[in-house]
Amino acid sequence: MRILHSNRSRLSRLMLLFVLVLGLFLAGWLGADPVASDASRTAERPPPPLDGWYPQSDDRWQDQFWLDVHLAKACEAVEWVCKTKFASRPVVRAVSQREMPFYIGQFVVRFDQIHICRANMARQVAEGDSRTLLTSEGLRLLLVHEAAHALDQERFPLEYNGRKRDDARVVCDAVREGHAQHVTRRVAAMWGLGHAFRAFRRMLECPRYPDTTSWHYRAYIQGQDFMDEVYFWGGRPAVDATLQRPPEAIEDFASPQRWLVHMEERDDLR
Ligand SMILES: [Zn+2]
Repeated sequence: MRILHSNRSRLSRLMLLFVLVLGLFLAGWLGADPVASDASRTAERPPPPLDGWYPQSDDRWQDQFWLDVHLAKACEAVEWVCKTKFASRPVVRAVSQREMPFYIGQFVVRFDQIHICRANMARQVAEGDSRTLLTSEGLRLLLVHEAAHALDQERFPLEYNGRKRDDARVVCDAVREGHAQHVTRRVAAMWGLGHAFRAFRRMLECPRYPDTTSWHYRAYIQGQDFMDEVYFWGGRPAVDATLQRPPEAIEDFASPQRWLVHMEERDDLR
Protein backbone atom coordinates (compact mmCIF):
# COMPACT_ATOMS: atom_id res chain seq x y z
CA MET A 1 0.00 0.00 0.00
CA ARG A 2 2.70 2.35 0.95
CA ILE A 3 4.60 1.48 -2.17
CA LEU A 4 1.52 1.89 -4.24
CA HIS A 5 0.85 5.24 -2.62
CA SER A 6 4.41 6.29 -3.23
CA ASN A 7 4.18 5.32 -6.94
CA ARG A 8 0.93 7.17 -7.35
CA SER A 9 2.31 10.34 -5.78
CA ARG A 10 5.45 10.13 -7.96
CA LEU A 11 3.18 9.77 -11.00
CA SER A 12 1.12 12.77 -10.04
CA ARG A 13 4.33 14.81 -9.42
CA LEU A 14 5.53 13.83 -12.88
CA MET A 15 2.18 14.83 -14.38
CA LEU A 16 2.37 18.15 -12.56
CA LEU A 17 5.88 18.74 -13.87
CA PHE A 18 4.77 17.91 -17.41
CA VAL A 19 1.82 20.33 -17.19
CA LEU A 20 4.16 23.03 -15.83
CA VAL A 21 6.68 22.56 -18.65
CA LEU A 22 3.89 22.55 -21.24
CA GLY A 23 2.43 25.71 -19.68
CA LEU A 24 5.78 27.47 -19.75
CA PHE A 25 6.33 26.48 -23.37
CA LEU A 26 2.86 27.69 -24.41
CA ALA A 27 3.31 30.97 -22.51
CA GLY A 28 6.65 31.56 -24.21
CA TRP A 29 5.25 30.75 -27.62
CA LEU A 30 2.14 32.94 -27.26
CA GLY A 31 4.08 35.82 -25.73
CA ALA A 32 6.96 35.73 -28.23
CA ASP A 33 7.83 39.06 -29.86
CA PRO A 34 6.69 38.71 -33.49
CA VAL A 35 9.17 41.36 -34.68
CA ALA A 36 12.10 39.59 -33.04
CA SER A 37 11.12 36.24 -34.51
CA ASP A 38 10.67 37.85 -37.97
CA ALA A 39 14.08 39.47 -37.64
CA SER A 40 15.74 36.18 -36.79
CA ARG A 41 14.03 34.58 -39.79
CA THR A 42 15.21 37.44 -42.04
CA ALA A 43 18.76 37.00 -40.88
CA GLU A 44 18.67 33.40 -42.00
CA ARG A 45 17.45 34.24 -45.51
CA PRO A 46 19.98 34.05 -48.30
CA PRO A 47 21.09 37.46 -49.64
CA PRO A 48 18.97 38.76 -52.51
CA PRO A 49 20.26 38.07 -56.01
CA LEU A 50 22.80 40.53 -57.33
CA ASP A 51 20.72 41.46 -60.33
CA GLY A 52 18.67 44.53 -59.57
CA TRP A 53 19.90 44.81 -55.99
CA TYR A 54 22.26 47.57 -55.04
CA PRO A 55 23.28 48.72 -51.61
CA GLN A 56 22.91 52.44 -51.00
CA SER A 57 25.85 52.79 -48.67
CA ASP A 58 28.30 55.62 -49.37
CA ASP A 59 31.39 53.45 -48.99
CA ARG A 60 30.61 51.72 -52.30
CA TRP A 61 32.58 54.53 -53.93
CA GLN A 62 35.75 53.05 -52.44
CA ASP A 63 34.95 49.36 -52.66
CA GLN A 64 36.54 47.82 -55.77
CA PHE A 65 34.13 44.87 -55.75
CA TRP A 66 31.09 47.14 -55.97
CA LEU A 67 32.78 49.50 -58.41
CA ASP A 68 33.32 46.54 -60.76
CA VAL A 69 29.72 45.36 -60.30
CA HIS A 70 28.31 48.83 -61.00
CA LEU A 71 30.57 49.35 -64.00
CA ALA A 72 29.58 46.00 -65.52
CA LYS A 73 25.92 47.03 -65.23
CA ALA A 74 26.70 50.49 -66.61
CA CYS A 75 28.52 49.04 -69.64
CA GLU A 76 25.62 46.69 -70.36
CA ALA A 77 23.13 49.55 -70.25
CA VAL A 78 25.31 51.81 -72.43
CA GLU A 79 25.67 49.02 -75.00
CA TRP A 80 21.91 48.60 -75.04
CA VAL A 81 21.22 52.31 -75.56
CA CYS A 82 23.96 52.69 -78.20
CA LYS A 83 23.09 49.39 -79.89
CA THR A 84 26.80 48.50 -79.98
CA LYS A 85 29.05 46.28 -77.88
CA PHE A 86 32.38 47.35 -76.44
CA ALA A 87 35.42 45.82 -78.14
CA SER A 88 37.09 46.06 -74.74
CA ARG A 89 35.33 47.33 -71.63
CA PRO A 90 37.13 49.91 -69.49
CA VAL A 91 38.06 49.35 -65.86
CA VAL A 92 37.30 51.68 -62.96
CA ARG A 93 39.52 53.04 -60.20
CA ALA A 94 38.69 55.31 -57.26
CA VAL A 95 41.33 58.04 -57.11
CA SER A 96 42.23 60.73 -54.59
CA GLN A 97 41.81 64.49 -55.04
CA ARG A 98 45.58 64.70 -55.34
CA GLU A 99 45.51 62.46 -58.40
CA MET A 100 42.48 64.19 -59.93
CA PRO A 101 41.98 67.65 -58.41
CA PHE A 102 38.89 68.86 -60.28
CA TYR A 103 36.81 66.19 -61.98
CA ILE A 104 34.29 63.90 -60.34
CA GLY A 105 34.89 61.37 -63.07
CA GLN A 106 37.03 61.03 -66.15
CA PHE A 107 37.65 58.47 -68.85
CA VAL A 108 41.41 58.27 -69.29
CA VAL A 109 41.92 57.16 -72.88
CA ARG A 110 45.53 56.00 -72.67
CA PHE A 111 44.84 53.62 -69.78
CA ASP A 112 41.31 52.64 -70.88
CA GLN A 113 40.36 53.47 -67.28
CA ILE A 114 37.55 55.38 -65.64
CA HIS A 115 38.71 57.43 -62.67
CA ILE A 116 36.20 58.62 -60.09
CA CYS A 117 36.64 60.81 -57.02
CA ARG A 118 33.94 60.95 -54.35
CA ALA A 119 35.58 63.88 -52.56
CA ASN A 120 35.17 65.98 -55.69
CA MET A 121 31.54 64.92 -55.99
CA ALA A 122 31.01 65.96 -52.35
CA ARG A 123 32.49 69.36 -53.13
CA GLN A 124 30.12 69.84 -56.06
CA VAL A 125 26.96 68.65 -54.40
CA ALA A 126 24.81 71.25 -52.75
CA GLU A 127 22.18 70.50 -50.13
CA GLY A 128 18.78 68.93 -50.58
CA ASP A 129 18.07 66.07 -52.91
CA SER A 130 21.46 66.38 -54.57
CA ARG A 131 22.75 64.39 -51.60
CA THR A 132 21.53 61.35 -53.51
CA LEU A 133 24.53 61.85 -55.79
CA LEU A 134 26.81 60.80 -52.95
CA THR A 135 25.10 57.43 -52.64
CA SER A 136 25.30 54.48 -55.01
CA GLU A 137 22.68 56.20 -57.19
CA GLY A 138 25.06 59.02 -58.10
CA LEU A 139 27.93 56.58 -58.51
CA ARG A 140 25.92 54.44 -60.94
CA LEU A 141 24.94 57.43 -63.09
CA LEU A 142 28.50 58.76 -63.10
CA LEU A 143 29.78 55.36 -64.28
CA VAL A 144 27.18 55.31 -67.07
CA HIS A 145 28.30 58.78 -68.18
CA GLU A 146 31.98 57.75 -68.25
CA ALA A 147 31.23 54.38 -69.88
CA ALA A 148 29.40 56.26 -72.66
CA HIS A 149 32.59 58.30 -73.21
CA ALA A 150 34.62 55.08 -73.32
CA LEU A 151 32.37 53.54 -75.98
CA ASP A 152 32.30 56.78 -78.01
CA GLN A 153 36.08 56.96 -77.92
CA GLU A 154 36.30 53.38 -79.17
CA ARG A 155 33.89 53.99 -82.04
CA PHE A 156 34.69 57.57 -82.96
CA PRO A 157 38.23 58.29 -81.72
CA LEU A 158 38.57 61.95 -80.93
CA GLU A 159 41.80 63.60 -81.91
CA TYR A 160 40.41 67.14 -82.09
CA ASN A 161 42.06 67.25 -85.52
CA GLY A 162 43.86 70.45 -84.80
CA ARG A 163 40.77 72.12 -83.37
CA LYS A 164 41.80 74.72 -80.86
CA ARG A 165 39.66 76.37 -78.22
CA ASP A 166 37.45 77.87 -80.89
CA ASP A 167 33.76 77.42 -81.65
CA ALA A 168 34.34 74.11 -83.42
CA ARG A 169 36.16 72.67 -80.42
CA VAL A 170 33.51 73.93 -78.01
CA VAL A 171 30.76 72.40 -80.15
CA CYS A 172 32.71 69.14 -80.38
CA ASP A 173 33.00 69.02 -76.57
CA ALA A 174 29.28 69.72 -76.30
CA VAL A 175 28.43 66.86 -78.66
CA ARG A 176 30.58 64.46 -76.62
CA GLU A 177 29.32 65.55 -73.21
CA GLY A 178 25.81 65.96 -74.55
CA HIS A 179 25.82 62.39 -75.84
CA ALA A 180 27.14 61.03 -72.53
CA GLN A 181 24.31 62.87 -70.76
CA HIS A 182 21.74 61.71 -73.32
CA VAL A 183 22.77 58.09 -72.67
CA THR A 184 22.78 58.65 -68.90
CA ARG A 185 19.28 60.17 -69.00
CA ARG A 186 17.91 57.16 -70.87
CA VAL A 187 19.63 54.63 -68.61
CA ALA A 188 18.41 56.53 -65.52
CA ALA A 189 14.85 56.25 -66.86
CA MET A 190 15.29 52.48 -67.37
CA TRP A 191 16.65 52.06 -63.85
CA GLY A 192 14.01 54.24 -62.16
CA LEU A 193 16.65 56.84 -61.26
CA GLY A 194 15.05 59.85 -62.95
CA HIS A 195 15.24 61.82 -59.67
CA ALA A 196 19.00 61.17 -59.40
CA PHE A 197 19.54 62.17 -63.02
CA ARG A 198 17.70 65.46 -62.47
CA ALA A 199 19.94 66.14 -59.46
CA PHE A 200 22.97 65.27 -61.62
CA ARG A 201 21.85 67.72 -64.33
CA ARG A 202 21.13 70.45 -61.77
CA MET A 203 24.60 70.00 -60.30
CA LEU A 204 26.19 70.35 -63.74
CA GLU A 205 24.05 73.40 -64.44
CA CYS A 206 25.56 75.25 -61.51
CA PRO A 207 29.13 74.03 -61.02
CA ARG A 208 31.09 75.35 -58.08
CA TYR A 209 33.81 76.75 -60.33
CA PRO A 210 32.54 80.05 -61.73
CA ASP A 211 35.14 80.23 -64.49
CA THR A 212 33.89 77.00 -66.03
CA THR A 213 30.17 77.81 -65.78
CA SER A 214 29.65 78.77 -69.42
CA TRP A 215 31.63 75.78 -70.71
CA HIS A 216 29.69 73.45 -68.41
CA TYR A 217 26.38 74.91 -69.44
CA ARG A 218 27.19 74.63 -73.14
CA ALA A 219 28.63 71.12 -72.86
CA TYR A 220 26.31 69.33 -70.44
CA ILE A 221 23.03 71.19 -70.61
CA GLN A 222 22.81 72.50 -74.18
CA GLY A 223 24.79 69.51 -75.41
CA GLN A 224 22.28 67.08 -73.90
CA ASP A 225 19.30 69.03 -75.23
CA PHE A 226 20.90 69.02 -78.67
CA MET A 227 21.61 65.27 -78.67
CA ASP A 228 18.17 64.48 -77.20
CA GLU A 229 16.59 66.32 -80.11
CA VAL A 230 18.88 64.80 -82.74
CA TYR A 231 17.85 61.39 -81.36
CA PHE A 232 14.18 62.33 -81.25
CA TRP A 233 14.09 63.32 -84.94
CA GLY A 234 16.78 61.05 -86.41
CA GLY A 235 17.21 58.10 -84.03
CA ARG A 236 20.51 56.27 -83.52
CA PRO A 237 21.77 56.79 -87.12
CA ALA A 238 21.58 60.56 -86.67
CA VAL A 239 23.27 60.40 -83.25
CA ASP A 240 26.09 58.22 -84.61
CA ALA A 241 26.57 60.46 -87.66
CA THR A 242 26.80 63.49 -85.35
CA LEU A 243 29.46 61.77 -83.23
CA GLN A 244 31.32 60.79 -86.39
CA ARG A 245 31.33 64.31 -87.85
CA PRO A 246 30.26 66.86 -85.24
CA PRO A 247 29.05 70.28 -86.34
CA GLU A 248 31.67 72.97 -86.55
CA ALA A 249 29.42 76.01 -86.58
CA ILE A 250 27.59 77.31 -83.53
CA GLU A 251 24.54 77.94 -85.76
CA ASP A 252 24.23 74.23 -86.55
CA PHE A 253 24.57 73.39 -82.89
CA ALA A 254 21.95 75.94 -81.93
CA SER A 255 19.39 74.33 -84.23
CA PRO A 256 19.20 70.53 -84.24
CA GLN A 257 16.59 70.63 -87.02
CA ARG A 258 18.92 72.58 -89.24
CA TRP A 259 21.76 70.19 -88.36
CA LEU A 260 19.65 67.19 -89.42
CA VAL A 261 18.90 68.84 -92.76
CA HIS A 262 22.61 69.51 -93.14
CA MET A 263 23.44 65.84 -92.46
CA GLU A 264 20.78 64.71 -94.95
CA GLU A 265 22.26 67.01 -97.57
CA ARG A 266 25.71 65.58 -97.17
CA ASP A 267 24.26 62.05 -97.17
CA ASP A 268 25.40 61.14 -93.64
CA LEU A 269 22.12 59.48 -92.69
CA ARG A 270 22.23 56.34 -94.78
ZN1 LIG B 1 31.84 63.76 -69.56
